[in-house]
Amino acid sequence: MKKKKLTTASGRPYFENEDSMTVGPRGPILLQDYYVQEKLAHFNRERIPERIVHAKGTGAFGTFKVTNNITKYTKAKLFNKVGNKCRVFVRFSTVGGEKGSADTERDPRGFAVKLYTEEGNWDLVGNNTPVFFIKDPKKFPDFIHTQKRDPKTNLKSPTMMWDYWSLNPESLHQVMILFSDRGTPDGYRRMNGYGSHTFSMINKKNKRVWVKYHFKTVQGNKTLTGAQAEELKGKDPDYAQRDLVEAITKKDFPKWALKIQVMTDEQSKKFRWNPFDVTKVWPHNEYPLIDVGVMELNEIPANYFADVEQAAFAPAHVVDGIGLSPDKMLQGRIFAYPDAHRYRLGANYEQIPVNRPICPVHNHQRDGMMNTDGNSGDSPNYFPNSFDNIEADKNYKEPAMKLDSDFADTYDRNENDDDYYTQPGDLFRKVMTDSERQNTISNIVGGMSGISGSKRDEIIQRQLSHFFKADKELALSVAKGLDFKFKK
Ligand code: NDP
Repeated sequence: MKKKKLTTASGRPYFENEDSMTVGPRGPILLQDYYVQEKLAHFNRERIPERIVHAKGTGAFGTFKVTNNITKYTKAKLFNKVGNKCRVFVRFSTVGGEKGSADTERDPRGFAVKLYTEEGNWDLVGNNTPVFFIKDPKKFPDFIHTQKRDPKTNLKSPTMMWDYWSLNPESLHQVMILFSDRGTPDGYRRMNGYGSHTFSMINKKNKRVWVKYHFKTVQGNKTLTGAQAEELKGKDPDYAQRDLVEAITKKDFPKWALKIQVMTDEQSKKFRWNPFDVTKVWPHNEYPLIDVGVMELNEIPANYFADVEQAAFAPAHVVDGIGLSPDKMLQGRIFAYPDAHRYRLGANYEQIPVNRPICPVHNHQRDGMMNTDGNSGDSPNYFPNSFDNIEADKNYKEPAMKLDSDFADTYDRNENDDDYYTQPGDLFRKVMTDSERQNTISNIVGGMSGISGSKRDEIIQRQLSHFFKADKELALSVAKGLDFKFKK
């Protein structure tokens, strides 16, 4: 192999990489040995802020291929022909743990997909669960604080978690999924991904339909029992990272089938729940899954930091023909994700190669830290101007969303909005097998056993009352497992 010369970051060939330049053989070290300073100073700056949520993750590049004609729903160029393909980058993650935490923690898994389309990046930033704990972004920081560390002990606190869940019954559906074995998937390849929110698609006639996205694992769902997950936390904390890297390295490329559920505007008005409530699903028998395409992951990035740590996904990144919805959590995430990226990576985070769109970018945004793409050269940095020909093309305007609501409502007033119980009950009774039900009960008992302190009984009683409203047997079994006597 041809030898390369060691250089400073500014390119000067340097004569020594290990021994510092000293006054005599015993030192002290000379300030003029610039390379030692540069090496130490750069090392001190290696870390960027850890993501507050989804800190531990892994990623891979791959392809997405359209397998079914959905042009009646969307005019997105990606979908204009069966067989169209685009490159993708996917980042999987846990949610609550720090960057060094174990992959098999009981936690939802992040499932973030970036599709590099000819008309811009489309990010589907979801989880491995179809619902979420809360439905209003105003609650998000409070909720996440309960999943992190206690401010005094710096320990994870089941008391905080169950206190919060028991005081926010809309979390019950996601809590049930989290404490089923789907809360401990066997690696990232064997789990589904969900867009979770309701999104929309807009067709050539500018008609909008409401859409839910499902990535179904082609490998088949496989989960770990609570005991297996616990054991792996110690034996192989990077279990899911290893599983993905090893599979792709031996060319066993994982695949997911992308499917959508579609609801017309007329149907959305008659649906018995708020279709924009992220704590609820749309039943499959009423809104069947429609095939869209297949995603395959086939390339581990050459450099983890460059592509995985610096990857920045945002639900706001949609393309023409793909739209958002009034889902409150989605609306909150439209703000929060780019805000987090500007904090972690700077105002020009979209210029980092993994985040950069494959199509040209034209606007009048300029300067800022770490601008690396030429900053649009000598073209004008103001609008309107007499020099460039950048136009805001009205053909890309979306149809107005017709929403029946008073403008400044801050309270829930949708039909059945306080029905926190029907869908978790259906999951427990109709979807889970006997052994899944048993595991769910024992996982919940294990989790709730950690509740301690003066409010222990109050928290347990409150949470049991939610389980009771979802399914009597579930509540009684959990109470029995905790050896808890209901108080009148
Ligand atoms: P279906 O019987 O048509 O579908 C059940 C779904 O549940 C399947 O997608 C299955 O995924 C998934 N599933 C199985 N076990 C679990 C689990 N422990 N945690 C989370 N998901 C699981 O039912 P319905 O559509 O009528 O919905 C019934 C209940 O199923 C819902 O209340 C909800 O809790 C759950 N569910 C529904 C989804 C939906 O979009 N309708 C999506 C996911 C869950 P798979 O087929 O890949 O095995």
